[in-house]
Amino acid sequence: MKIIFIFLVTQIIWISNSLAASKLNIFACEPEWSSLAKEIGGDKIKTFSATHSKQDPHHIRARPSLISKIRRADLLICSGAGLEVGWLPILLQKASDKVQTNGIGHIIASNFVDLIEIPDHVDRSMGDIHPEGNPHIHLNPHNILLVAQEIHKRLLIIDPDNTSYYNNKFEMFNTKWQEAIIRWENNAAELKGKPILVHHKSFSYLVEWLELNQIGSLEPRPGMPPTTSHLNGLLKTIESNPVDLIIRTPYDPRKASDWLTEKTNIPNVILPYTTDEEDVDNLFKLFDRTIFILKQ
Ligand SMILES: [Zn+2]
Repeated sequence: MKIIFIFLVTQIIWISNSLAASKLNIFACEPEWSSLAKEIGGDKIKTFSATHSKQDPHHIRARPSLISKIRRADLLICSGAGLEVGWLPILLQKASDKVQTNGIGHIIASNFVDLIEIPDHVDRSMGDIHPEGNPHIHLNPHNILLVAQEIHKRLLIIDPDNTSYYNNKFEMFNTKWQEAIIRWENNAAELKGKPILVHHKSFSYLVEWLELNQIGSLEPRPGMPPTTSHLNGLLKTIESNPVDLIIRTPYDPRKASDWLTEKTNIPNVILPYTTDEEDVDNLFKLFDRTIFILKQ
């Protein structure tokens, strides 16, 4: 009896290992792309995100654990537009041909949407980390759909045996997402024109989509920490342009927004910014939660 039991357990472990081994490995630079891949790849893929919701994707270390993940990747999905310039090229040196820049397994999300805030000229000495335009493209749900189409296309090429599975998953996501966009747009209509300040220009696509009124950012330039003179300038701006809310991501330092709140009584809040493993564990919840907080 004992021998049969051990045999069965061994068989189950062997089957589950071989199923896991047959799944495609998706390496996402940011959690929003691993969440999106899951929507379309379902249980045919295994996803990994190089960054989590409390990490600034502009600045992480190309540590050995990330190298071992990218080595096994069949498909890479990153925001691009300079967001990962400090670490992705180092990781790619260790990755296979299929996820290299011109490989079928290399998706740069910002190549499939219209970038905003493209600067006329860039002075890197000022610390500007958005030289190619704003890379935080995922907070406009229309952009999510454009990237979803590309992920779907690539999965069909990389894993044609599961074509009907990916087609079904994509169609389901597409329908549900388009319905959600209508719901969000109706729900957020009252936010049109809402004057806000942001810490970093992380929310510009959300601002554009919901027609919020971004009065300014606490950073003088993207990536340059807030300075006293810039914050004092913002205080003057606020006198003539009243602001309702100061927003930041879970990883932005809170000091500058707290200082402004203390001076002005304008509340500051953290928006989720991306998906996480706790309460915002999918992209639908990301937008639900963001709009809910903005309406508070
Ligand atoms: Zn940025």
